[in-house]
Amino acid sequence: MTDSNAALYERARRFIPGGVNSPVRAFKSVGGTPRFIAKAEGAYVTDEEGKRYLDFVGSWGPLILGHAPQEVVSAVQKAASLGTTYGAPCRGEVDLAEKVVAAYPGLEQVRFVSSGTEATMSAIRLARGATGRDLVVKFSGCYHGHADHLLVAAGSGLVTAGQPSSAGVPKDFAALTRVVPLDDDARLDALFAAEGKKIAAVIVEPVPANNGLLLQRPAFLQKLRALTKEHGALLIFDEVISGFRVPKGSAAAHYGITPDLVTFGKVIGGGLPVGAYGGSRQLMSNIAPEGPVYQAGTLSGNPVAMAAGLATLRILERDNVIAKLDDMGAILEAKATQALKATGREVGFARLGSIFWLSFQPGEPPRSAEAIDGGAGARFAPLFQALLDRGIYIAPSAYEVGFLSAAHTEADIDTLVAGLAETVAALPR
Ligand SMILES: *Cc1c(COP(=O)(O)O)cnc(C)c1O
Repeated sequence: MTDSNAALYERARRFIPGGVNSPVRAFKSVGGTPRFIAKAEGAYVTDEEGKRYLDFVGSWGPLILGHAPQEVVSAVQKAASLGTTYGAPCRGEVDLAEKVVAAYPGLEQVRFVSSGTEATMSAIRLARGATGRDLVVKFSGCYHGHADHLLVAAGSGLVTAGQPSSAGVPKDFAALTRVVPLDDDARLDALFAAEGKKIAAVIVEPVPANNGLLLQRPAFLQKLRALTKEHGALLIFDEVISGFRVPKGSAAAHYGITPDLVTFGKVIGGGLPVGAYGGSRQLMSNIAPEGPVYQAGTLSGNPVAMAAGLATLRILERDNVIAKLDDMGAILEAKATQALKATGREVGFARLGSIFWLSFQPGEPPRSAEAIDGGAGARFAPLFQALLDRGIYIAPSAYEVGFLSAAHTEADIDTLVAGLAETVAALPR
């Protein structure tokens, strides 16, 4: 007996808040019933009703090799058969740490955790512990997971304290977070002039990809590096999405800027729950058991997750996957831009490597959350539904990016482009 998506959703809502274990899966902004995925292979997911979709969500970033790549699945099976967790060190942790360290500019040590949220939360604690300062600067529109100090949206005034963007985050916590717009040199200068000596860290997605794809001017990122250095604050690159995904493997390598701390997640777990944070040996020596900043995890560095990450990173390197995906991305960009232009609608296309985003507004794609046209959501919902009907699965939000994986072919790109062009052309004016 197969259950329909609707029947499963109804049952799910009885036992799980909103029926989902991560909010955006609920299709709230686009309407309709979430698809319950029964299996996935390569570029495709199949739901419980047996309908197959060409997938550009890729589990929101981790699946750079596509679904269930055979070598990764084998590595996971082999590791699992030897025990799924030991609560003691294992070789996989050392192998993966060595690989991550070797791949990232200036990195000397990493600590593994089990999610991107844990990675950023721990990096912030480390930055505060190492500097003896409390203030953290983030940018509006950048998402760093759901830790209290980072769930803070833009306040209106420059040095006003951040407002929590979730119930349950104490105002006193949010008061230690400063939020500034991306792409705004003057606001940043003013903030550092006023409070520079109290700032523990600036955290940024160097490739902001959680509120559209807000590609930054390299000069703006350079400025972050210079300002933090000048004021004794740490620069944290949150590369949970961009790490082992963007050209040259990281924003740090792509832009030629070395942060003090970096966070990883998504790709480095090869589809299993893994996050990591790292920096110089000297900074990382502040972490327990060497130093006074406490951080721990029962399942951290478990052998199955390490095996998945390791197999994935080995394949990326061996098959030159990241560079090839950049070429595929360029093909998608060229074809999509041309096809969308032919519709005569105001749709922009932003891309870095295998990450892409449609912006529903005239002109160049925006570089800050403030520059995003607020009406985009309404224009997106019918597009999403039409693509889903055609068997094309993109993220159920106007402000989420799409991902290419090594499993996508040029024919898959053509399918996406044709689907986009036809559905965009048919959107109500
Ligand atoms: C996904 C993401 C996170 C949070 O990672 P989780 O594994 O979902 O906790 C943090 N930072 C960035 C940039 C992300 O894209």
